[in-house]
Amino acid sequence: MKDLRIAIVGGGIGGLTLALALRQKGFDATIYEQADELREVGAAVALSANATRFYTGRLELADAISKVWYEVQALIYRDGRSGDKIAEHRFDYKARYGAPYVGIHRADLQVVLSQAVGLDRIELSKRLLEIDDSGNEAVLKFADGSTATADLVIGADGARSTVRRLMLGYDDALYSGASAFRGVVTPDKMPSMPDPEAIQFWMGDGRHCLHYPIGADGDHNFFLVERNPSPWPHKAWIAPTDDAEKLAGFGDWHPAIIEMVSAVTCTERWALFHRPPLSRWTKGRITLIGDAAHALVPHHGQGANTSIEDAIVLADKLAATNDLDEARADFERVRRGRTRKIQYASITNADVLHLPPGQRADERNARLADPSSWDRHLDWIHSFKADEEEPSDRQGGTWL
Ligand SMILES: Cc1cc2nc3c(=O)[nH]c(=O)nc-3n(C[C@H](O)[C@H](O)[C@H](O)COP(=O)(O)OP(=O)(O)OC[C@H]3O[C@@H](n4cnc5c(N)ncnc54)[C@H](O)[C@@H]3O)c2cc1C
Repeated sequence: MKDLRIAIVGGGIGGLTLALALRQKGFDATIYEQADELREVGAAVALSANATRFYTGRLELADAISKVWYEVQALIYRDGRSGDKIAEHRFDYKARYGAPYVGIHRADLQVVLSQAVGLDRIELSKRLLEIDDSGNEAVLKFADGSTATADLVIGADGARSTVRRLMLGYDDALYSGASAFRGVVTPDKMPSMPDPEAIQFWMGDGRHCLHYPIGADGDHNFFLVERNPSPWPHKAWIAPTDDAEKLAGFGDWHPAIIEMVSAVTCTERWALFHRPPLSRWTKGRITLIGDAAHALVPHHGQGANTSIEDAIVLADKLAATNDLDEARADFERVRRGRTRKIQYASITNADVLHLPPGQRADERNARLADPSSWDRHLDWIHSFKADEEEPSDRQGGTWL
């Protein structure tokens, strides 16, 4: 198996992490990435201990990565209009989970990962169009007219995966009914923000705002979500917008939110798509990981985290046997249940965050304020050790 020729389609968070994890296990993989450079401006992710444990631990990136991430100090829920604090989870997260909860620029993460993988293992400007898996090797065909061959093709090409579409024969993306505006704001532009060292959810009727500090300087990444428009009227997943449209549904929100989201101009509205769970992630020589396998809405901030978990487990399973089919079946067996639960929890999270004022919202707030609420609905996500645990029903209760 160690001489397997592995092609990873997509040099995003899952693909880069997989290449690194495979290298540690003695495999050589080549990444084929459509972009001409590994960079995504203005976007960030929050990573929790279920993923950061691998970067600070077995992938040995602690020195490089801790310079570019921000360790968040608390998780806070607030009312979007009044700003009233509804719940606060503030405890020694790193001591409890053995790894930090962080915010990081996606570009910084990709730089750290790609340097560790080695730029010689990443082929840029390679947009995959087709895979011919009918012969005794898979042939990948790219938009620039070139081809590559492989014994194993990993589709790590994200939520808009071409590999998944080729595997299924159709595009199964589903609009979740919500869209988002995103931006990164320097701390000096948002002096009114309470608890800027925390990751915060501000909740309101049909909308919410999530923000958290990222990077060494504590820049703030915000994510302004609303249930609008529905249905999504555009073909592309990103549509042009302006600041008036961004603020239209948030005009009566707390001044600290208005201050933060007004500090940058938003020109794009992001439709939030997800995909239905599949019963198999493998067909022939092709296997999916990350968003290509289980794209989810970002309301639990777990898309990148679960992609990292997938990468670690797939590398382990490939190293554990000489039977490629057995390795991939085992990978899917372990990962399908966990990712399905997180997909479901993510979509229902929007319903919980978006409750209109009234009895249900009051009940939600009381439950969130209960000190046991972290243990009931978040511990099962953050405490998970993907390389040690078998799938189980371990999952917190619901909010309502
Ligand atoms: C607005 C928003 C906020 C989010 N916030 C968070 C968060 O806080 N925490 C979190 O964990 N997750 C978050 N996510 C989700 C997270 O970004 C994704 O789940 C994660 O990046 C998936 O990793 P991946 O490796 O599967 O795909 P990606 O990281 O998207 O990488 C896919 C790569 O494949 C390349 N590619 C695509 N098509 C082709 C092709 N045909 N040929 C070659 N290359 C191709 C792309 O250029 C890209 O580099 C968020 C998502 C969104 C949209």
